[in-house]
Amino acid sequence: MTTMRVLSVASEIYPIVKTGGLADVAGALPLALRSEGVEMRTLVPGYPAVMDALERAEPLLEWPLFFGGITRLLKARCGELDLLVLDAPHLFDRPGNPYVTPDGTDWPDNGPRFAALSRMAADIGLGDIPDFVPDIVHAHDWQAGLAPAYMHYSHRRQAGTVITVHNLAYQGQFPREMLDQLGLPPESFAMYGVEYYGTIGFLKAGLQFADRITTVSPTYAKEIQSDEAGMGLAGLLRDRANALHGILNGIDVSVWDPATDPSIPARYAAAGLGPRADDKTALQERFGLEQRADVFLLGVISRISWQKGLDLLLECLPDIAGEGMQLALLGSGDADLQTHFQQAAAAHPGRIGVTIGYDERLAHLIQAGSDALVVPSRFEPCGLTQLCALRYGAVPIVAGVGGLEDTVIDGGDAPTGFKFNPVTSDNLAAAIRRAYAVFADKSAWCQLQANGMATDVSWRGRAARYAELYREIAQMRHIAM
Ligand code: ADP
Repeated sequence: MTTMRVLSVASEIYPIVKTGGLADVAGALPLALRSEGVEMRTLVPGYPAVMDALERAEPLLEWPLFFGGITRLLKARCGELDLLVLDAPHLFDRPGNPYVTPDGTDWPDNGPRFAALSRMAADIGLGDIPDFVPDIVHAHDWQAGLAPAYMHYSHRRQAGTVITVHNLAYQGQFPREMLDQLGLPPESFAMYGVEYYGTIGFLKAGLQFADRITTVSPTYAKEIQSDEAGMGLAGLLRDRANALHGILNGIDVSVWDPATDPSIPARYAAAGLGPRADDKTALQERFGLEQRADVFLLGVISRISWQKGLDLLLECLPDIAGEGMQLALLGSGDADLQTHFQQAAAAHPGRIGVTIGYDERLAHLIQAGSDALVVPSRFEPCGLTQLCALRYGAVPIVAGVGGLEDTVIDGGDAPTGFKFNPVTSDNLAAAIRRAYAVFADKSAWCQLQANGMATDVSWRGRAARYAELYREIAQMRHIAM
């Protein structure tokens, strides 16, 4: 097996900068691909958090004027990760969240910021950086979407390209007046170019020009070809159906391992779930819930948003509390919904506990201590929390959409959880009640937990699918050249 070189291009990467599942994937994939004969380097923006995390940084090239300022490309390590860093202080030396100002609005220059990331990726893909000449450029989401377009319009011999859609809801649209500033040729502003409903569409451009498109579950790959879930891009995705693949995400099973997890008070393995009781007590204590072993405790770890369906859960809270269940919710996002959850916690002390914020350690405790994990998403490209839940013996109760549909089994010989669809609050309430009824039957519940914990949620098989895809593209390019 010859080694393939792949440049991954991502606007966030775990453990350095993370706002969602994209970071987890960008951080885990390079390591999982090593045993597949793929050498992956990841191009990331030089945010302050990235610059602080670098080890052995070495400048490769410098430009006096790149998208308006002095810019360097650095090669560096961060833990196990091999990075290329776009050190452009005028674009990325800003505190906090990578995309929004401290006031919560998008940075007004997000267009040029992520066009710069894509331009650098394209230059690397065109072989202009001798230190790393990749066979494939793998772009993630809209922030890297222009890379395949820049490569296309260079009309030069180039690497193959893949774009992965982690969430079609984020598309990166910018005014057509930016065309020149972004270094795109006039002819690119066309239906089969970067034009998207009269604007420049970064994700659209990637979907148009990448050799292959992947998304993070087979069901989501089908859903996004429908007008209802295609968010304006369904037509293009249908046109490119032959190039579109659904490859499930995995989780880092060394970070998420209840047998060794340093974030939980009691560790356990599938062979003996006894210590989970202590984690449940610790979780109840942390959320101010009544400390009872027999109560049915639901956990939620989520962005608080319409996509995640948490308004539907809100409607079920009186039932949950009234029927003697408990809820421990960790999340942040929509301000109104946050307030409603806090009000519900105040109205049902000891039954409903809410922590607003982002807290990795607490997320681990919720997985280890809750009986079931609720994910009522209206749409869910893959979803990672249900994968962690399977591994921790928290039985998932999920909407039957996207990756949730593909990773949770309801019924049959080896069920692992509960699913509901259509995604309504009544159906969610019914699924929770159904789970509650099974919870009363200890042996049936233990079997569900055992089935979940026996599920392979690692990156192993999934990384192999990416490696296969890279080889296919490289071969296709080779034949075409
Ligand atoms: P999305 O990327 O749409 O937010 P995913 O389920 O794909 O959803 O990934 C979310 C990731 O972020 C998971 O690893 C989850 O554990 C983590 N996460 C989400 N919200 C929080 C939070 N408030 N605190 C800690 N971790 C969180």
